[in-house]
Amino acid sequence: MNFVAPTSFPDTLGPSALKGVKVLLINMPIREQARPNNPPVGPALLAGRLREYGAEPNIVDLNIYRIQDEEAARRGLEFGRSLTFAEARALLARTLDKIGPQHVIGLSGLITTLTWQTEVAKIIRDLDPDAMLVSGGGLATQFRTTLLDWIPELDAVSHSEGDDVILKMALDAKTIRDLGFDRANKSGRLAPYFHDTRNGRPRFFYQGYRTADLDVLPWPAYDLLKEDVDGFPVLETYLNTPVWGGSAKNSSATSFDMPRSISTISSRGCPFACKFCFRGGQGERNYGVRSAQNIADEFLHYRDCYGVEFIALLDDNFMVSPKRITELADILEPYARDGKLQWGTHGRLDEAADLRPDRNGGYKKADVRRVDEMARAGCVYIGFGAESASARTLDAMGKGGFMLSNGITKINGYEFPLTMVEGIRNTYASGIHGNCTWIMGYPGETLPDLQTSVAFIRWQEEEISKGLTPGSDEHKRALASINKALFTATAYPGTEMFQAPKVMASLEQVFGLTFDAKTKQPLPDENYRKYVLELNDASKMIANSDGRPLNYSDMPDDQFVEVRSMLDAGKLDEVLSL
Ligand code: SF4
Repeated sequence: MNFVAPTSFPDTLGPSALKGVKVLLINMPIREQARPNNPPVGPALLAGRLREYGAEPNIVDLNIYRIQDEEAARRGLEFGRSLTFAEARALLARTLDKIGPQHVIGLSGLITTLTWQTEVAKIIRDLDPDAMLVSGGGLATQFRTTLLDWIPELDAVSHSEGDDVILKMALDAKTIRDLGFDRANKSGRLAPYFHDTRNGRPRFFYQGYRTADLDVLPWPAYDLLKEDVDGFPVLETYLNTPVWGGSAKNSSATSFDMPRSISTISSRGCPFACKFCFRGGQGERNYGVRSAQNIADEFLHYRDCYGVEFIALLDDNFMVSPKRITELADILEPYARDGKLQWGTHGRLDEAADLRPDRNGGYKKADVRRVDEMARAGCVYIGFGAESASARTLDAMGKGGFMLSNGITKINGYEFPLTMVEGIRNTYASGIHGNCTWIMGYPGETLPDLQTSVAFIRWQEEEISKGLTPGSDEHKRALASINKALFTATAYPGTEMFQAPKVMASLEQVFGLTFDAKTKQPLPDENYRKYVLELNDASKMIANSDGRPLNYSDMPDDQFVEVRSMLDAGKLDEVLSL
């Protein structure tokens, strides 16, 4: 069969077009200091898609393992350490022994997984030399064909959303296996993604795109995670790990427990354009949603099938459409009433504030607020990327328009955007726990800017404590539910922030990157690769081998380092008194 236009591609495939095609998807480890809390939803979605056409997918989730041993204790890793490369190799070897050689082996992970993908690619090339080895997801979307040079074992890179292009990948691998590369290539069936050949191996550059209708996609094939090759209960471990909250050890504090939870996605992309945010793997600015009915059906399926009481929607921005929220509330309200089916997601504080501009240049409150409708649907948690409470910094981040349009209000001597204050008040009033995450050290940020964010955190504590007896358990729990951790501004390639003059200058000085004057893109040299290897989830400050920090703010380096260590120690009041 010849390849046709991408948007109609899956329609031309019969249900057994990929019969007998074996695909192994490998999820990379991340955030060793935290318990693994989210099953690999991307690989599980792709596996579900492959099964629709007769393929045989499997998933190895290298992120689920946390080993408690002397090494973990030595490194102070409360939940245990990730596998070593040797342990990962042994696990992959046992898995491949069981499932046999594969047509396609896919590596997936965020930009922070370059080290792991580099090592696993070598392992796979050795264990299953004939498999088409592909990198997809966040790292691949950010670096595209550069990754073919940085990880020479790769046969293919696939960027953006893979729901449809994974099928073409499996088909290409099958065609090559059936015909041999030369005949397959001459037949034209490897078009349009065949890139070149290197060392006798064909290389491909797959360009993902948004599938026509998100509602027709199968739900994540979580059943494939039931247990690993050794019988380790992968899925059950996730179900018993809270997605958010104190025991998840991430920046997402909650005021409630979630005994059994699971994650999924209800929308792709985000229509906004904050300068630090990279959304490449999840739809970029192309916002698309699943219907309320489709989401509700999935929720009920998880409740019935896995006994979960909490579902996390990992959307970048769930709250864009008030209409969809009301539709969801109309369906889920009866189930939400008994408190046995709760959920949480991410949104923006201006969506929670729901203030509408009026004709006199002021604003009026929405008749029906999104947060109230979400509470009616059983939502108990919203993660807000507040990032900063300083008007100047919000403007610099590209968040000023929607966060500052209703003006400023003065509280405790600090000037806060009214939208942020209203967003928090509405959320608390609805009964939903609103968790803000923050960034310190954004380009141009001064100490007073940062202090405004810290003062907002303190104000949130006051606000959530209203009516509670000081010192009571309830009061202590409320205070503990306010997130007090701040991320360090991190320049991820592909973001607008990465091309800010201050950022480019710091990356040149501290890490020796070289930017092309015209394109403002860094040369893909060893210095750039080393910088990417240093990237983490923004929970830590990045410094070069001489200890010089990457500081994009307007604070001098010594003050930046001092403030960072105060924040790491939870000494917020010391930051306020500087
Ligand atoms: S930070 Fe949030 S609102 Fe801004 S672009 Fe990213 S996902 Fe959208």
